[in-house]
Amino acid sequence: MKIAVLRERFVGESRVAATPETVAKLIGLGAEVAVEKGAGTLSRIDDAQFAEAGATIGSTAAATLKGADIVLCVRRPEAAELKGVNTGALVIGALDPYGNEAAVGALAQAGVTAIAMEFMPRITRAQVMDILSSQANLAGYQAVIEAAAAFGRAMPMMMTAAGTVRPAKAFVMGAGVAGLQAIATARRLGAVVSATDVRAAAGEQVESLGAKFIMTEALKDASGTGGYARELTKDEQAAQAELVAGHIAKQDIVVTTALIPGRPAPRLVTKAMVESMTPGSVIVDLAAERGGNVELTQPGKTIEHRGVTIIGHTNLAGHIPTSASQLYARNLLAFLETLIDKANKALAIDWEDELVKATVLTRDGAVVHPNFIAAAP
Ligand code: NAD
Repeated sequence: MKIAVLRERFVGESRVAATPETVAKLIGLGAEVAVEKGAGTLSRIDDAQFAEAGATIGSTAAATLKGADIVLCVRRPEAAELKGVNTGALVIGALDPYGNEAAVGALAQAGVTAIAMEFMPRITRAQVMDILSSQANLAGYQAVIEAAAAFGRAMPMMMTAAGTVRPAKAFVMGAGVAGLQAIATARRLGAVVSATDVRAAAGEQVESLGAKFIMTEALKDASGTGGYARELTKDEQAAQAELVAGHIAKQDIVVTTALIPGRPAPRLVTKAMVESMTPGSVIVDLAAERGGNVELTQPGKTIEHRGVTIIGHTNLAGHIPTSASQLYARNLLAFLETLIDKANKALAIDWEDELVKATVLTRDGAVVHPNFIAAAP
């Protein structure tokens, strides 16, 4: 059973899908592991560390992939990049299938079994495999760190002989995994923090972190299925916009994290709202990759509009690659442990397991995931 770990080719991707720690454990499960040369460089892991853990270092992607039964990746590789793997090889990563149906179809035609880790059910058993949570948690932290760095003032209150610096006011929109970590981080840095969400259950979590929860009376609860939010109606959107417009003008730092599964990010902050903020304020839009919560966000860029900095990085977890890779690699390892028979040291996949059923996109030459079958070419 050969496992291949590729160097990521996606521009700006700094993470890697395995670490020396997980390589050693995969070898313990009976695998032979090949890591492509330089795969860990941007996560500060060098080839020698992978080799010490027992991996062979592949000088090229082709050499690394040759005869592989499992390919571990962060981003979806193109089907053409997977030449040389065994028929039916598992390709496991954040495969980003929405909007990329043609690429998913190509993976099916290439005969690989593509497994999208972002579809891991959010149930207790799968928490250890939840890449969305591990990466969102780091992104929420990093959003506040980057906001603090771009903010021309101190975050905490400082009472000094030369006078008092007032604490920054931070507002977090969307209190899921990333938002809650952003709240906690901003609080640790001494900001006065408020937050909003459309799920009523988020209120208690926000308050337990010492932040003020802000929600419009008109919106009782917009919880959808699986703990996610549903899209708001036009009236609800208007009520939310009114609430935000009044609050945001008084904020120094805004972190937006609102997402609806499978939909573009909801638009929460208009140009007029940005213009109501004081010059020197900073907005970090964690939803930038899905179109952004802020009207002015330019995905992948940092811009300034009337003195307000708007940070639209699309991969904030990748800005702390060492931690992000460490947690991502552990998520993948935990999932692989459920797919490998330890006694026989071979793959033994239970295709009826709910974790497998939820994540497998392609199998035996076909697209098999219910969300994508209709779209398959
Ligand atoms: P997400 O990334 O889909 O969305 C981020 C947040 O944005 C959510 O809290 C959502 O309610 C909020 N949001 C959506 N539309 C909004 C709007 N118009 N205005 C303001 N906020 C808006 O969510 P997530 O971080 O992945 O978490 C979703 C839920 O899943 C949470 O309840 C979380 O606690 C839960 N969760 C459970 C597990 C588990 O049980 N294993 C793991 C992780 C998360």
